[in-house]
Amino acid sequence: MLDYLATNTIVINCKNNTSMSDSGDGFKLGTQRRTFLKIAGASGLTTVGVSGTGAAQSGDTTPSICEKADSDADIYVTVLGSGASALKNGRSQVGYIVHLDGEPRILVDTGGGTAAAVSEAGIDITALDIVLFTHLHVDHTSDFPAMLKASYQQGRDGRQWQILGPTGEGSRPGTKAWVSKLFDKTDGAYSYIHEFVHDYLGTDVRLETTDISAPVDSSGEIQTVYERDGLSIQAAPTKHGAMPSLAYRITYGGSTFTFTGDYSSKLGNVPTLAEGSDVLVQNRLLKPQSELKGSYGPKRTLHSTPEEVGTNAQTAGANMLVLSHVSRDEVTDLERELGVIAQRYAGPIVVAKDLLDIYPDGEVVSSTANPETGVGTHGNDADMLFRPNLGSSNDEQ
Ligand SMILES: [Zn+2]
Repeated sequence: MLDYLATNTIVINCKNNTSMSDSGDGFKLGTQRRTFLKIAGASGLTTVGVSGTGAAQSGDTTPSICEKADSDADIYVTVLGSGASALKNGRSQVGYIVHLDGEPRILVDTGGGTAAAVSEAGIDITALDIVLFTHLHVDHTSDFPAMLKASYQQGRDGRQWQILGPTGEGSRPGTKAWVSKLFDKTDGAYSYIHEFVHDYLGTDVRLETTDISAPVDSSGEIQTVYERDGLSIQAAPTKHGAMPSLAYRITYGGSTFTFTGDYSSKLGNVPTLAEGSDVLVQNRLLKPQSELKGSYGPKRTLHSTPEEVGTNAQTAGANMLVLSHVSRDEVTDLERELGVIAQRYAGPIVVAKDLLDIYPDGEVVSSTANPETGVGTHGNDADMLFRPNLGSSNDEQ
């Protein structure tokens, strides 16, 4: 009987974790292309291995998440939130931070809870300058105002934000219109921020927003949407019901992460966009094809089946697959779905959890224990309390 906590479910691949390789044949990772579902409960840890051919095996001990090996990676990703819309499985809604040369520079989606995760990980968000929205559903966007405001509160200067997201369609606003509804100086819902930042923090809010073509029912084109200082970002339209939606490919320092956003496989852009990625971050799985009936039928236009996910990852030739935006944590479901993926995809698979750092070489580290992410970037309490440019009238939050 597994002692199971949803928030601690993870499939993990620790290339550099020697203690895992001590546990027997099944724990020698990397060379055997095995993935491991680790279930942590109050009484300890249990590991279930899923082999590359989809057959399940069981073990009974595993160490905690891999310890950070020395790294000089130019790019890595923090999972701020790995959940979906429902707030019932201990996960924040979905969002990621991409670190470049050790600086947290890019936000990819900002669902509910991701702002709190920034604080928990101790990430300094004053360096952020690019925001990529895959689409504008609540579970991908709702914490953006909190992050934007916090970045100034914590000392951001007047650098411009580059905000990129899909065009609108029908009643659904595009990204430019959405940002304007929130932050327009005259009639935005949070227009006060301009005045506040100017008057109390001595700088200005500068938002540069770009709509990226995301036709709902045609494949559109893969576009390069950002190219500067060695950073390249490409976007491709995806199919997510009636919501304009994008997947992003981020390349820096010779490594590539691709974020699928939410998508069904109908438009087929993901395998092309993700070709040769070091890490493919895949949002949400439906049940396997044969079980999609009844109320699950309509979801086929919103999300992907495990069969499609495995085939897409294999076609793309991704070195590692990270499953995120997890809505169902039932172990039996996950095991089955991972098995279906593993029958089609030969690489390692990681089921994300909140506050994990993922490196392009496949290393996975707890964000809060990672010296590159959290420790040392908190500042200290005295700094926060006595920031000289925050006066006593600074009470409008
Ligand atoms: Zn979503």
